[in-house]
Amino acid sequence: MIRLSAVDKYFGALHVLRDIDLEVPRGQVVVVLGPSGSGKSTLCRVINRLEPVDSGSIALDGVPLPAEGRALAELRADVGMVFQQFNLFAHKSILDNVTLGPIKVRKSGKAAARDEAMQLLERVGIADQADKYPAQLSGGQQQRAAIARALAMRPKVMLFDEPTSALDPEMVNEVLDVMTGLAADGMTMLVVSHEMGFARRAAHRVLFMADGEVAEDSVPEDFFQAPATDRAKDFLGKIL
Ligand code: ATP
Ligand code: MG
Repeated sequence: MIRLSAVDKYFGALHVLRDIDLEVPRGQVVVVLGPSGSGKSTLCRVINRLEPVDSGSIALDGVPLPAEGRALAELRADVGMVFQQFNLFAHKSILDNVTLGPIKVRKSGKAAARDEAMQLLERVGIADQADKYPAQLSGGQQQRAAIARALAMRPKVMLFDEPTSALDPEMVNEVLDVMTGLAADGMTMLVVSHEMGFARRAAHRVLFMADGEVAEDSVPEDFFQAPATDRAKDFLGKIL
């Protein structure tokens, strides 16, 4: 479970996250949406401490986020992150991209890491691409490799920051299908995405962010049919 308590984050004078309280129970799938600049990426980045918070606290399964050192590396292993830009290692094969973390951080043996990586590549539908390099794959395949790489760390939580927005339209669904499968398997997920189909199909909960605040927190049916705030109405009017 993820819990944020009274989290504030500034970039200089800009108050990017304002007193955020959020609890995501185990197995819950939360879709985060909101206008550009509302703080969605920053919310993801503070959860695995790519960004420090200015005040407040964040805990994973009741354990507060450590500031640095080995404990932080372990925490990062528990929180998988998938970005808009796939961020694969360009000079490593897909298989090596997936096995690197388990071997370096989890101290897995090479053979075991390889077997597990192949199972994950199977699960995301690209086992036949294992020996290729990232540039030889389509965007959708690269993003599925990035998901497999994150899963290889056996995370407790997966964070997705606009995982399909850099993809050509015909590749969006192959990535969303993998994410829908993960959700169905009970993964705890926080997904920044404007893919309404995914939100309706997979989300238990929708957060609408505006100006660094969670302006709405509701179930998808309610949010899409009857958003409570004018800001959400305005936002949905623009994207639907
Ligand atoms: P988008 O939909 O465009 O991705 P977002 O909701 O993810 O937007 P954030 O990236 O979290 O928004 O940014 C929130 C605010 O913080 C924006 O005003 C942004 O310009 C600012 N910001 C983000 N990262 C930094 C940084 N490293 N330094 C300074 N300002 C930043
Ligand atoms: Mg963003």
